[in-house]
Amino acid sequence: MKARAAESLLDRRHRLLGPSLSLSYRSPLHIVRGRGAHLYDADGIEYLDCVNNVAHVGHAHPRVVEAAARQMAELNTNTRYLHEKVLEYAERLTATLPDPLEVAFFVNSGSEANELGLRLARAASGRRDVLVLDVAYHGNTGGLVEVSPYKFDGPGGSGRPEHVHVAPLPDPYRGIHRGRTPETGAAYAADLGRVLDDAAAAGRPVGTFLVEPIPGTAGHVVPPPGYLPAAFAAARAAGAVIVADEVQTGFGRVGEPWWWAAEALGAVPDVVTMGKPIGNGHPIGAVVTTREIAARFANGMEYFSTFGGNPVSAAVGLAVMDVVEDEALRTNARHVGGRLLEGLDGLRGRHPEIGDVRGMGLFIGVEIVREPRSREPDGARAGALVEAARRRNVLLSTDGRAHNVIKIKPPLVLSETDADQIVDTLDAALAGD
Ligand code: PMP
Repeated sequence: MKARAAESLLDRRHRLLGPSLSLSYRSPLHIVRGRGAHLYDADGIEYLDCVNNVAHVGHAHPRVVEAAARQMAELNTNTRYLHEKVLEYAERLTATLPDPLEVAFFVNSGSEANELGLRLARAASGRRDVLVLDVAYHGNTGGLVEVSPYKFDGPGGSGRPEHVHVAPLPDPYRGIHRGRTPETGAAYAADLGRVLDDAAAAGRPVGTFLVEPIPGTAGHVVPPPGYLPAAFAAARAAGAVIVADEVQTGFGRVGEPWWWAAEALGAVPDVVTMGKPIGNGHPIGAVVTTREIAARFANGMEYFSTFGGNPVSAAVGLAVMDVVEDEALRTNARHVGGRLLEGLDGLRGRHPEIGDVRGMGLFIGVEIVREPRSREPDGARAGALVEAARRRNVLLSTDGRAHNVIKIKPPLVLSETDADQIVDTLDAALAGD
């Protein structure tokens, strides 16, 4: 009976939704409820959710739900009227960033935030060309697919557009320079400098450096020490504005004392884009920049987002911030993330297929290889491990150029017991139990 119900959902989906949309897992899940770090399917089976970094403070957090319901029952309009909540939210959000980053814009998604980030940087630099890192993904709009090597070099992609320049992925495990050392960081920053020089020499100087501080779709690649500050310095010296895409990495995921991954890696961008976690499932995106860049953008053309910064979204955003602070979730990310990283690293001795374990806080990548010496990526095995973990009720996903990196980015409410469950589950899956 239940199986038939699930099958008919699948049939209806195929008929009703665009076919370019994919489903997770060989046997798709029918999830009907969420709480904390857990999801529940139609049969009441519980899954540990290590995929949905959107549910930052936990699925269906009662304080967030209540804030949304209360404001929804009172008023929802837009930013063309005065309202306290959007200002309080802007105050609280900008207070998490270093001083020059003090002016906020509100939108509805990570893609919309990056679109605006690009427009701000282009207005401030007066240049159209964009520098990105290899394998990067920055969003689903036409303009962002054009600056996302993950898409334009991937299936169905049409290659790198002329206005886009690609610097090597600063991957200390399998990139062109190896080792988590300052020398490797400097070597990758020098490579990026050469891409900037080549672009300028070709008459296409770069105006925007759009970058995830810890590249996500590339496989949660933590760059080597010193890379980010040196890369930012090189881009600034070439006249580029730096847009940090913190849609995945931001808002405390990398652990206390930080809110932002760029901050954790010692670098200050000119523009920060935010999405996913800041609304805990309610669609909120935001962009924060300097007063100077905001002023350059205000050239007479109005910028308006119908839903961006509306009172309900502001109330939700404030409630999410309250929970991050009141439940000390950045501390939890650091503590439980550290324990998880250590536990996963401990599996390497028993399972040589684990080539690398890296991450910060609760943003972790486990790289699966055929054998450690060759480092040959094993995407098929990584996919099989994700399926095996799903059968053990732990939800994981893969990414990276060869889809051989198991990504772990759970809600920040993950407990120590949950972390141990992830480690034990991967251990058993690797052993083929
Ligand atoms: N930037 C990054 C780094 C992302 O991972 C994503 C989404 N996966 C986006 C931007 C786009 O966000 P959204 O899907 O909310 O538009």
